[in-house]
Amino acid sequence: MPSSDSGVASSAQAIDRPVMYIVLFGAPGAGKGTQSQRLIKSLGIPHLSTGEMLRAAKASGSELGQVAASYMDEGRLAPDELVVGIVCERLLEADCARGCLFDGFPRTVEQARLLDRFLADRGLRVSVVIDIRVQMAELQRRMLERSRVERRVDDTPETIQRRLQVFEAQTAAVLSYYESRDHGTVESVDGLGGPDEVFDRIMGAVDRHRGRACPC
Ligand code: AMP
Repeated sequence: MPSSDSGVASSAQAIDRPVMYIVLFGAPGAGKGTQSQRLIKSLGIPHLSTGEMLRAAKASGSELGQVAASYMDEGRLAPDELVVGIVCERLLEADCARGCLFDGFPRTVEQARLLDRFLADRGLRVSVVIDIRVQMAELQRRMLERSRVERRVDDTPETIQRRLQVFEAQTAAVLSYYESRDHGTVESVDGLGGPDEVFDRIMGAVDRHRGRACPC
């Protein structure tokens, strides 16, 4: 994990807008992508989608990208060290000094712990975890539809099933981690309904946690 310390903590108190590190949590197909776009526009913070970062690494053909691809193409999670390394490097960039929106990260308890440590070293913490809830049958329906429309290589019926199973098996533990480590950090939001409706629910939850990135 990178150890150099750029603007992340130092400028954290410098500007009026509250610093917010938001985790957008939800199964594949829960609507994280759509809601992320709206949130970053509304909050003015950068979007850190590990799926996008890994797809970019894969497309670049780098060694790291090839390793990531071997996991992604099978619908399995990439190794924690690899993903956290990419995220922490990104967090050290100046535009993340006022917070960011994590999309698809952390996906394991180990990733959540490493992120906590990285932020705590800088006097910061995750402000809120937004848990977008959607029933399994609806998730399957949405993902099959997306695979048809977008032709994403990692959205075949087999990988869709695998990704949903991986989410159930591994990622749900991340919620328990956040619930136990800091009571009140997790906000569950109903993900059924139109995008505007879901967005309003999410913003309501975000508003309840504004200015909560700094534990001091
Ligand atoms: P996504 O676009 O978020 O659904 O991610 C697509 C794929 O990238 C996943 O199925 C994983 O193989 C990989 N991936 C994305 N984020 C992570 C993460 N935080 N940890 C491990 N693997 C990830």
